[in-house]
Amino acid sequence: MTDKVKMRIIGSGGIFVADASASTLIDDSILIDCGAGTFKQLLRLNCDVGKISTIVITHLHADHFMDVPFMMLAARKNIDNGQKLTIFVPEGGIKATHEIAKYIWNPEDATESWWPQNVEVVEYKNGESFTANGATIEPVKVVHGKVRASGFIVEKAGKRIGFSGDSIMCDGIQKIVEASDWAVLDTSFPKSGSAIHMGLDDIYGLCNTYPDKKIIATHIFEETRKMIRRNIPNLIVPNDGDIFEL
Ligand SMILES: [Zn+2]
Repeated sequence: MTDKVKMRIIGSGGIFVADASASTLIDDSILIDCGAGTFKQLLRLNCDVGKISTIVITHLHADHFMDVPFMMLAARKNIDNGQKLTIFVPEGGIKATHEIAKYIWNPEDATESWWPQNVEVVEYKNGESFTANGATIEPVKVVHGKVRASGFIVEKAGKRIGFSGDSIMCDGIQKIVEASDWAVLDTSFPKSGSAIHMGLDDIYGLCNTYPDKKIIATHIFEETRKMIRRNIPNLIVPNDGDIFEL
């Protein structure tokens, strides 16, 4: 297959930085994570939010999940043309989506008469692949403190892209990177060894172990962006909005 896959870094930042929340858009239609500020960031980047028909959430932290209701609101414009929005969430995500969505419409309407009829929320299970917009997506368990969290292996047009979500170095990260040609990885902290995020040592180690794979840093905190080495051939430190053709 020769089709190119377009991958756009919507956000590359950790929480306490001006860079947008970590989020990636594949072929204008599949959004990986949709955290605080992602919706407006998509608008700033002139992305057509109406074309996004799949959202995949790594975990339910606010900087990965909290803008889902705004995407649901945008999806309502597609009711007449028949396009659906499917939101894939981890276990517990259906309940969580209903809890936050009501604050877009009517917090006191328990009947949810406001729920857009073309929006569906589906809970995925680690190890059980699903398909969406021509891609096969495999959720892989990762380790992010005590939070239920997954990364993904996305295969589309013969290209394989890994996403760590938020995680420390673990078997899941090894599996995701091994299975992928490109990997978008949590590069939060200057140092490795926290219970929730990877650090630069982890990322440098992966770049060294897999020289033929492209590693894209994301979820980057301020100190980390200052310190990160720019001379590693297979390590990419993106700015928000950067586009890669695979
Ligand atoms: Zn998190």
